[in-house]
Amino acid sequence: MTVQEPPETPDSPAAALIAAAETHSAHNYHPLPVVIASARGSWVTDVDGRRHLDLLAGYSALNFGHGHPRLIAEARAQLTRLTLTSRAFHHERFAPFVTELAALCGMEMVLPMNTGAEAVETAIKTARKWGYQVKGVPDGRANIVVAANSFHGRTTTLVGFSTDPDAYRDYGPFAPGFTVVPFGDLEAMRAAVDENTVAVLLEPVQGEAGVIVPPAGYLPGVRQLTAERGVLLMADEIQSGLGRTGRTFACEHEGVVPDVYILGKALGGGVMPVSAVVSSAEILGVFKPGEHGSTFGGNPLACAIGLEVVAMLREGEIVARAAELGELLHDELAKLVTEGTVTEVRGRGLWAGIDLAPGVGSGREVSQRLLARGVLIKDTHENTLRIAPPLVIERDDLQWALTQLREALAG
Ligand code: PLP
Repeated sequence: MTVQEPPETPDSPAAALIAAAETHSAHNYHPLPVVIASARGSWVTDVDGRRHLDLLAGYSALNFGHGHPRLIAEARAQLTRLTLTSRAFHHERFAPFVTELAALCGMEMVLPMNTGAEAVETAIKTARKWGYQVKGVPDGRANIVVAANSFHGRTTTLVGFSTDPDAYRDYGPFAPGFTVVPFGDLEAMRAAVDENTVAVLLEPVQGEAGVIVPPAGYLPGVRQLTAERGVLLMADEIQSGLGRTGRTFACEHEGVVPDVYILGKALGGGVMPVSAVVSSAEILGVFKPGEHGSTFGGNPLACAIGLEVVAMLREGEIVARAAELGELLHDELAKLVTEGTVTEVRGRGLWAGIDLAPGVGSGREVSQRLLARGVLIKDTHENTLRIAPPLVIERDDLQWALTQLREALAG
């Protein structure tokens, strides 16, 4: 495969669209200079007709690839039948979705929302309400322990306990009630949990931080601690869950079952935002009518797509594929460490964070070089690349992408 033309030339259709976006869109993102027009599976085509292999997969929202025929068929059928009722009425896709999603999680109840951040907010409200009503925490005193370098979304409450200045700077004042401890440090967690702690909120693998896997034994340790102290363990599996790590949930790698799963991204099949909090009847049973809600949460279109996502996960083939191709990915990436272009590789399944060695270029520069080679990848932080292809990627395509990576790292 030869290196493609530079992605953006001054008179290309892409250049005009990028310039207009720069003028009329807030600059809260710094996209690579490629304008995507269509996509299928793991491949996207840009407005200049060039094809690129997608190694980002919408930050894991596209676990099933672009335009998966089963998901598109479900969406199409539902679009012409019923799209929205609000939760003021029942609709025929709601019960199957919540029943099947609860079963996938081994839980009893589902509270559907839309975006990931909304689901995390919902989990926080759940934990506080449970704390006051069930645990007996004095009113207004509930606290939740969270991890440093976490990423749970962009609402003012969520960025209020972020340790990333880009996420929280100039957005205060923030909601109280959160204690931040280092990720992976069980003793720090033990010291932070007190009689008013209602929940520990964790990503089992920290995605945005650079695909950080905690030390073996950490998650089981937190599980034991929270069980002993009457504290909810809430696993934010929005990025790590639904097949990405080669298991349905990243918690499974350590045999941990949380009290609350927080799901999003791939639950919407890359078609629309679908998120959910999934837990027991005791925990989610704290809500009464009018105490929480969302106009679009659990809408018929979302439920139709989510139901098919759950069916595909339960069949197991895509999850097994993530585990199998994940081995190939990590074997190949380990060679880059030996070769000296990468200092560290982390991750599980079809998910990796790689730290670039000094001198090979910044994450942004290497992403630009890969773009010129027809591979879409994005840096996270200065010198880390995150690799998260659709789980349906072909083995040969993955091999090809890794060859491009090796060559791009060489300069
Ligand atoms: N939680 C985790 C672990 C995430 O990775 C993300 C998004 O990257 C979110 C929550 C927020 O999801 P959303 O962008 O859909 O609000």
